[in-house]
Amino acid sequence: MPISAVLTAPGQITLEDRPKQEPAKGEVVIAVEHAGVCGTDLALFKGDYPVPLPLVCGHEYVGRVVQTGPGVSSEWENQRVVAEINNTCIARGRADLCRACRMGLPGHCQKRNVTGIIEKDGAFAEEVTVPAGVLLKVPDTLDPLLAVLTEPLAAALQTFEMTPVQGNETVAVLGPGRLGILIVFAARLKGLKVFAGSRSEAKRQRALRFGATEVLPPDALLHRVREDTEGLGADIVIDATGTPDGITQAINMVRPRGVVSVKTTCGLPAGGLDMTKLVVDEIRLQGSRCGPFAPALDILHAHQETLRPLITSQRPLSETQQALESAANEDKVVLDMPVLRQ
Ligand SMILES: [Zn+2]
Ligand SMILES: [Zn+2]
Repeated sequence: MPISAVLTAPGQITLEDRPKQEPAKGEVVIAVEHAGVCGTDLALFKGDYPVPLPLVCGHEYVGRVVQTGPGVSSEWENQRVVAEINNTCIARGRADLCRACRMGLPGHCQKRNVTGIIEKDGAFAEEVTVPAGVLLKVPDTLDPLLAVLTEPLAAALQTFEMTPVQGNETVAVLGPGRLGILIVFAARLKGLKVFAGSRSEAKRQRALRFGATEVLPPDALLHRVREDTEGLGADIVIDATGTPDGITQAINMVRPRGVVSVKTTCGLPAGGLDMTKLVVDEIRLQGSRCGPFAPALDILHAHQETLRPLITSQRPLSETQQALESAANEDKVVLDMPVLRQ
């Protein structure tokens, strides 16, 4: 029986043998090879992001299709895949689309569940079952370990889907951690001038290696960004701090009519939000979440050697509890599953 690492209560992972899953119509079973731990998993684990438990977390993963349900194209059999996390009306091939899906906003599907987050067990397990409509093939020439970064890199790219750029903008990234470092990288690929702020010297050095133009401690960042922009502020400030205070720092740093791009999903409310500055400076707050997988896979493929060091440790599935505990203090922990290799 396949093993799942089940979040049974906040802070508590239990390994369970679960009956083999049978794919329903339109679904596939994926033998998971690697699954990344991200900030959302930590918020779920700590209980800051409350969801019904028990839940198998894990939404950043790569694996091989080992079984296909009725109606699934044979092209998926034995394919190595990554999978988008929102299981929408469209992905499930429903005839009656919800209003969001009809409007072309499947990411906001009203009938969706979300793999590893909302009402759908995820990939901290030997097997995960999802609709075939969420799959993308992973090229043979891409290291499968790096493919776990597809989902977070897509989320990083979504920043610039929601706030398109010309290439001459100045951006500030607050918190170049797990997600923030991918935003730094994506911003530099777009030719932007990137300031990154972190309390951690190691994270600042890493942000430089991944394309930041300048890195500073958070206290010094505001001054430096203002200095560099003749006192006006950055065009876009991205809050990837993972803390409720990040948005306040971002509002202080952005220029009038600029954009504060919010990427923090810590599950906690942001107190002390300066509404007046928001109004007076006509600042746009732009949340963004899941992004496009195809360009993320292309970027990973083109830059795999550069991006490999982002994965800081690997642990077996049996150490999911320890992985979630240590992920609070390191960047990218990846769980490795026993794999049915051929
Ligand atoms: Zn994630
Ligand atoms: Zn829908």
